[in-house]
Amino acid sequence: MKNLSLEVLLSQYTTFRIGGNAKYFISVESAEQLKEAVLFVQEKSLPFFVLGGGSNLLVSDDGFFGVVIKINIVGIEWKNVSDSSVEVLMGAGENWDDVVALSVARDLAGFENLSGIPGTVGAAPVQNIGAYGSEIKDTLSFVEVFDTTKMTTKILRVEDCAFGYRDSVFKTGEGKKYIVVRVCCVLQKNAKPNISYKDVSAFFAKNNIAQPSVRDVRNAVLEIRRAKLPDLNVYGTAGSFFKNPVVSQEIFLSLKEKFPLVVSFDAGEGQRKISTAWILDNICKFKGHRVGGVGVYQNQSLVLVNFGGGTSKEIINLASEMKECVKKNTGIDLTEEVVMLGF
Ligand SMILES: Cc1cc2nc3c(=O)[nH]c(=O)nc-3n(C[C@H](O)[C@H](O)[C@H](O)COP(=O)(O)OP(=O)(O)OC[C@H]3O[C@@H](n4cnc5c(N)ncnc54)[C@H](O)[C@@H]3O)c2cc1C
Repeated sequence: MKNLSLEVLLSQYTTFRIGGNAKYFISVESAEQLKEAVLFVQEKSLPFFVLGGGSNLLVSDDGFFGVVIKINIVGIEWKNVSDSSVEVLMGAGENWDDVVALSVARDLAGFENLSGIPGTVGAAPVQNIGAYGSEIKDTLSFVEVFDTTKMTTKILRVEDCAFGYRDSVFKTGEGKKYIVVRVCCVLQKNAKPNISYKDVSAFFAKNNIAQPSVRDVRNAVLEIRRAKLPDLNVYGTAGSFFKNPVVSQEIFLSLKEKFPLVVSFDAGEGQRKISTAWILDNICKFKGHRVGGVGVYQNQSLVLVNFGGGTSKEIINLASEMKECVKKNTGIDLTEEVVMLGF
């Protein structure tokens, strides 16, 4: 088997820089190699895990007794589909932000609000990446997947992907049989960028930019992110550790009665998305909290960081402490945004 290694240290493949060994590790550069890797998994009767950039992942200190399949399928094709739109077909192993930069350089609108998100193209539809008022589902046309039960590739249209807030079919029991091979999105020419998100519109108001270009939006988003999020060259992190809970209007109102300043957003269908960061900062006072080698990032409480030498055990203990505090004070059960491997 090409590109097969044994006992590979996974911490070097995750942005948290935490985690033990994978029993087997296979890098794949094409759908054909992916098929061979899945055949290897079946032959060994072991569990498998699909790895992109490891930026939404916490790996156990004990590692993973199975096969890690690292997706390195590259290639980007641009196709004019109308006077106003361009289709971009991207290999799952392409770096997401590199593709965003290329689309912005072509003055195409659609990806710019998703600037600066680490990781690969293939993982983007898995959690329906989102930031600053955009999600990948807004531009997605179809996903080419490898079906590990039928051992063939197939196309899933956007309506087949069951996209939700940080959610998709790929996270469900049924959808876990799919491995993303390529993603196709449609971007707009000469379109007005979406600057409706509060932080983005405030940035342009402050800088007196009335009609920002897609390039201006990318630069603004990158600047806003730099101020809020840790530098991956300095800290280990997987970004937001928890999701923002979506609650009914009734639960929201009782929370608001207890905490009048609670920050929330409209989540549609009469529901509210509550800011977990606000709860962690204002009720639980976790900002900057440090335990051993890990802690809560001082500029954004949703983000847990490894200061160096941190372990998955320390992260899990800290996360449990945070969940308990939120539950005790608000009744809300936080759920993890980060994917866990080997626990
Ligand atoms: C500093 C920082 C900031 C971040 N900001 C954001 C943000 O603003 N918005 C946001 O949405 N996310 C954010 N994230 C989270 C993360 O970047 C995204 O979830 C990203 O899409 C993960 O990509 P990855 O390639 O690193 O995936 P990985 O971490 O390697 O994998 C994540 C999940 O996707 C699965 N997967 C990966 N590739 C494939 C594939 N080809 N086929 C099927 N399944 C696959 C994995 O099995 C796993 O379940 C941030 C992370 C960091 C570290």
